[in-house]
Amino acid sequence: MSNDALKPVPRKGILDIAAYVPGKEHAPGVARVFKLSSNETPLGPSPHAIEAFRQSVGHLELYPDGQATALREAIASVHGLNTANILCGNGSDELLGLLCQCYLSAGDEGIITEHGFLVYKIQILGSGGTPVVVKEKDCQVDVDAILAAVTQKTKIVFIANPGNPTGTYLPVSEVRRLQAGLPRHVLLVLDAAYAEYVRESDYEAGIELVSNSRNVVMTRTFSKIYGLAALRIGWMYAPLDIIDAVNRLRGPFNLNAPAIAAGAVAIRDRDFVETAIEHNLLWLDKLTHAFEAIGLKVTPSVTNFLLIHFPDVDGKRSDDADAFLTSRGYILRAVKGYGFANSLRMTVGTEEANRGVIETLGEFMGRA
Ligand SMILES: *Cc1c(COP(=O)(O)O)cnc(C)c1O
Repeated sequence: MSNDALKPVPRKGILDIAAYVPGKEHAPGVARVFKLSSNETPLGPSPHAIEAFRQSVGHLELYPDGQATALREAIASVHGLNTANILCGNGSDELLGLLCQCYLSAGDEGIITEHGFLVYKIQILGSGGTPVVVKEKDCQVDVDAILAAVTQKTKIVFIANPGNPTGTYLPVSEVRRLQAGLPRHVLLVLDAAYAEYVRESDYEAGIELVSNSRNVVMTRTFSKIYGLAALRIGWMYAPLDIIDAVNRLRGPFNLNAPAIAAGAVAIRDRDFVETAIEHNLLWLDKLTHAFEAIGLKVTPSVTNFLLIHFPDVDGKRSDDADAFLTSRGYILRAVKGYGFANSLRMTVGTEEANRGVIETLGEFMGRA
């Protein structure tokens, strides 16, 4: 083994990572900006959660509860789960990384899908693993393609259900078929960051599958419908063996006290969640129809965002639309990094933002 490097060298895989690039936030020179690039809710958090956050400010000198008990109990009671099977993370992103660190060794393979969330690839590489990318079918996760990609080295499979940035979902029958086809030692991670928005009767976020198997984990987040992205709160529902492994590795105080307090109150405010779902369903439908009416293609979405596909025509491509929208203060998300060369992803915003995007894109498509 050579020992002659002149400086510290990161271990294998780290320098293969392309750092995550968050959605844009600014539109230079525009006074009023509507940020529709990171799937944040336009409705903010529950007022009760804000109040709980404020109250926690009185004790910032104290370490938080390392077990996040109040939050785990609130999640368990709302979802009808055992508290012991729930583990919280500093955003679900942290949990995705911890699962890779726990279950991947150097040289192991992790399966991800063509348009899958970029964090999976980053975390597989960070654990010394090899990402194996499987094609999707018309923006849909393809169970047969995943099963065909499994090798002796496969240790983990990540799917977002629903998907980001596609907004599509796999029905529960397909997720069951995927689990049934995987070797028992392969961990299946179901990232259900947008589960609360889905209203299809054949969708199941993963609770049933986790409860009935030993190799499935469901991850969830408070960053989307609960409007608490700034506080970084995620959770996973998993078999006890997996909870035990991740508990050994995680930071002892990985959730901060204001997050624990606000999260525990937010998840109990079901009226707030219902209002958010209604706003989203209404606008998902209106936006989809409005964009189709001006000649754009939209991938059918069950989430709080839309994937909009632009014509392959000079002046009408996604880059042109992005520049035009940004100049008017509407910031959408370019998705080239996700394998969409000519599309933009739009988060459902306030009524004002949504109407503004409809009008601006109408103008964009209508111009000569
Ligand atoms: C937004 C999102 C998350 C949530 O990440 P947090 O770290 O909990 O904020 C996870 N997965 C997907 C696919 C997402 O889009």
